[in-house]
Amino acid sequence: MAHCSKLTAFITLRPQISAMKKLLIIPALLLLLSSCQKSFDTTKQEFIKKLWVTYPGFATSQGYHKYDSVLVVPNQESRYAELRLAKWIENELADFKFEKLSANDKTDYRILQDYAKSIRFNVNEFKSHEWDPSSYNLGGAIFGVMDYKGESVDDKLRAISSKLKNAPAYFEAAKANIHNPTFEHTSLAIKQNNGSLYFFKSVFPDSLATSKLSDAEKAAFNTNAAAAQKAIEGYVSFLQTDVLAKSDTTKMRSFRIGKSLYAKKFLLDIDSRYTADEMYAKAEARKAWLHQDMNRLTDSLWPKYLAKVAAPVDTLAKIKMLIDKISEQHCQADSFMSTIEKQLPELTTFINAHHLIDLDSTKPLKVRKTPEYAAGVAGAGIDAPGPYDKQAATYYNVTPLTGYTPEEAESYLREYNNYVLQILNIHEAIPGHYTQLIYANRTPDIIKTIFGNGSMIEGWACYGERMMIEEGYGKSPEMQLFYDKWNLREVCNFILDYNIHCNNWSEGQVLDLIVKQAFQQTAEAHEKWKRATLSQVQLASYFNGLTEIYELREEMKQKQGAQFDLKKFHEQFLSYGSAPVKEIRALMLGN
Ligand code: ZN
Ligand code: ZN
Repeated sequence: MAHCSKLTAFITLRPQISAMKKLLIIPALLLLLSSCQKSFDTTKQEFIKKLWVTYPGFATSQGYHKYDSVLVVPNQESRYAELRLAKWIENELADFKFEKLSANDKTDYRILQDYAKSIRFNVNEFKSHEWDPSSYNLGGAIFGVMDYKGESVDDKLRAISSKLKNAPAYFEAAKANIHNPTFEHTSLAIKQNNGSLYFFKSVFPDSLATSKLSDAEKAAFNTNAAAAQKAIEGYVSFLQTDVLAKSDTTKMRSFRIGKSLYAKKFLLDIDSRYTADEMYAKAEARKAWLHQDMNRLTDSLWPKYLAKVAAPVDTLAKIKMLIDKISEQHCQADSFMSTIEKQLPELTTFINAHHLIDLDSTKPLKVRKTPEYAAGVAGAGIDAPGPYDKQAATYYNVTPLTGYTPEEAESYLREYNNYVLQILNIHEAIPGHYTQLIYANRTPDIIKTIFGNGSMIEGWACYGERMMIEEGYGKSPEMQLFYDKWNLREVCNFILDYNIHCNNWSEGQVLDLIVKQAFQQTAEAHEKWKRATLSQVQLASYFNGLTEIYELREEMKQKQGAQFDLKKFHEQFLSYGSAPVKEIRALMLGN
């Protein structure tokens, strides 16, 4: 769930052709266009080149390592460069007649169009560079380079050395950008930037010692690293003393973005067939249905687990009692990672036996401890290579429970009990995120792959759970009950995100929803509240994507009748890269 990191902080500037040159070029270009059409492929290729120059950190994250050594200073100039990219896209697209493009290019056209809109929205309207201090953090940028398998340690260190050289200017620009930040994002920035210091304390000294860098290069690295470390510490202390200590934390900017920005961000980020309001209505309806189904399952399971106990009259209280009872079946804190490791091959066996989707057995999935820099982000998640880095390993990052008190660990393990842990693995790994990202990296269409639509990606993982349960994985009323509970959580993610940002919901209201109506542990509810205060719209992506994919599958069944083949549907659906579901829908339904 943590794999879709936002890449807002890594931006660059590159002087565009001067106005003079443009004047000379435009008439010639117009002449050219009137006689022969520039191909849409050429535009896409030129766009990608410009994109990586503008966002080198984004390039690194996609496995494109040409700009690994670049750290863009996030100042006004770099934001102008972003807006120039938006303008360039719009000018290019204006040269094409939409109706004349192929179905595949039409999708890319719309993705590019939306991307230009997103740039404008983020720079001019959303402006998180002003109020989100956690958008400035070198941890992810350094990690993206260090984690790359295709380059020698020496080259990585050279790239990082040059990045670090810009760190003082980077954090100076960050300080200048920050204006009336939220308390929540300021606290996160302190935590994450402190976390990134671990590179300086252990990773860099160890790597330098084994590297073949010349003495001069090592000396330069150490100079740059010392200055960068000082800049990070300076930034943290700025946030602590100049921002937090000088503010009345109750009067800082609210983390709630409000109804109007929410509707716009939903439109741009989720890119759904539905508006936020329409999808919210679907979420409320699904919640009511799930409560009914869970009530039915609870009645059927009650004698097996609580025969001697009188069932409460209140339906929700009754369901909760049974869930609490069955949740006692969980692994221990010290076997958490090994239990996950053991379950993965079982999922593969089931999928192959039931012909649900072709799995690539050549790509190893490695379970590992979540790296330090990702501190502050939830439980378990896939960390996969980008489209340019297809041979690199995919990791299943698991945060071990070592930092938990015994009570916290117990609460967490009950939440991720023997049933739910399997659903989590379906979601994160097989056939969820891990499988989807392998397919995404296979598609030759780079635009659809790099502009991975978060709701398609999360929706697929959620769809995978529902599909596996429908196909009989772990078939039992217990598994169905815990799937319902898990699905209810996805539904409630939508409901709480929408209500927190649009309807001023308090933490108490969120606790009531999550603990009482969605049967989750209190620790999980606090975690969810924290997450909703740091992100916007992202928590809505799960239910939206699941709903759109499920509806599409049902439509395809209707359309194809006896010809419908579930395995083919899955493989075709994933063959378009991580495009928005509504675009995949248009391609699959042929309209
Ligand atoms: Zn996920
Ligand atoms: Zn226990």
